Amino acid sequence: LSNRLQSVFSKLRTKGKLTEEDVTAALREVRLALLEADVNFKVVKEFVAKVKERAIGQEVMKSFTPGMVVIDIVNKELTALMGGTNSKLARSNKPPTVIMMVGLQGAGKTTSSGKLSKLLTKEGRRPLLVACDIYRPAAIKQLQVLGEQLKVPVFAMGDQVSPVEIAKAGLKHAEDHGHDYVIIDTAGRLHIDETLMQELRDIHAAIEPDEVLLVVDSMTGQDAVNVAENFHQQLSLTGVVLTKLDGDTRGGAALSVKAVTGCPIKFAAMGEKLDALEPFHPERMASRILGMGDMLTLIEKAQSGIDAEKAKEMERKMRTAEFTFEDFLEQMEQVRKMGPLDQLFEMLPGANKMKGLKDMKVDDKQLTRVESIVKSMTKEEKLHPELLNHSRRKRIAAGSGNSLTDVNRFIKQFEDMKKMMKQFSGMMGPKGKGMKGL
Ligand code: GDP
Ligand code: MG
Repeated sequence: LSNRLQSVFSKLRTKGKLTEEDVTAALREVRLALLEADVNFKVVKEFVAKVKERAIGQEVMKSFTPGMVVIDIVNKELTALMGGTNSKLARSNKPPTVIMMVGLQGAGKTTSSGKLSKLLTKEGRRPLLVACDIYRPAAIKQLQVLGEQLKVPVFAMGDQVSPVEIAKAGLKHAEDHGHDYVIIDTAGRLHIDETLMQELRDIHAAIEPDEVLLVVDSMTGQDAVNVAENFHQQLSLTGVVLTKLDGDTRGGAALSVKAVTGCPIKFAAMGEKLDALEPFHPERMASRILGMGDMLTLIEKAQSGIDAEKAKEMERKMRTAEFTFEDFLEQMEQVRKMGPLDQLFEMLPGANKMKGLKDMKVDDKQLTRVESIVKSMTKEEKLHPELLNHSRRKRIAAGSGNSLTDVNRFIKQFEDMKKMMKQFSGMMGPKGKGMKGL
């Protein structure tokens, strides 16, 4: 996934502007990356369209490469799609706050119930766990063991009483014993079926929960969407708990589920241990889905700029004063990819004392002009700037479609830069630090 993105972004980086063509090409790859991360295809389609709309016509800031701009937009939109900032657990102003955990079998409902009760305990709450899964063998025992480990009381009535009755009695028990949170652990099935849904609807109607959290195994790929849609229709979900993020899944399910149900993902479970539950952070998830670790490296690379071979050659030329207009042009092009010259120079030791840096900003227009001027020079002139007398300058101005002032200004800049380079090459001598990226 990230290899693919890397290749497309490096393609982008070698260009100056973010054209519609660039965006389309980049987003084709983003699309594939998302599909590989198991994001639902409908969700991907909408997402890509949205990003495209935003990206085209977007100004590429001087200090960014086009690739960085695309990464930034994709990342922001992805974060927004997953719910912006993380959203909190409800808290009823008429305690206890009732949380109903629902989801397919094996999704992690029971484990997450335990983890959630631990989180609440840490916040000074007094949760009660209620065992409503009477079908799965040892499900009640599982919750009781968790409760013992966590020192959280578990309300159970065995497996001969209906889950609705257990839920109601559990709630009553919580009220009587001063619990401020009730977590109802319900049964799941391997697939959605009507009997299960009916039971869950009955529990829902009986206890009127403040939160209905759908527990989703993040390894469930495309199917997560159908599951979420179905549960949401039946039970009006209020949030999602995404489990098993400690696996190697990219978590595309997270994106799909949020997009389809509109419900925020409230918690992320990242392991079997009981403290492995955290509030969900959309921006982290976005990074994960996109493999942002790699992207950040990419951005760093873009910032450190040009390829080492070229830099070395330039450095040699500067020292031996072989620096020509052609080199200057190439330098400007490289520098333009990295950002404004003045900022760049500020990073170099001693550079802030030098004059003339203010005029050294590079933008597309300027680069085009410089290019046309250099191309109107003869080979002799390029190698020997001192040849450029008034009449030659006039010829170049006419030939390149620039004013004489432009030509003069450019030549002045070139000479300033050469002077600066002499000073730099002093610093860069055998004992100097070298001139990274320039
Ligand atoms: P339920 O059927 O929905 O109640 O699922 P359980 O809570 O019993 O969990 C099913 C299995 O998934 C158990 O073996 C859990 O230990 C495991 N599990 C739950 N959450 C996580 C998680 O975040 N990471 C990992 N690796 N395993 C988990
Ligand atoms: Mg269970």
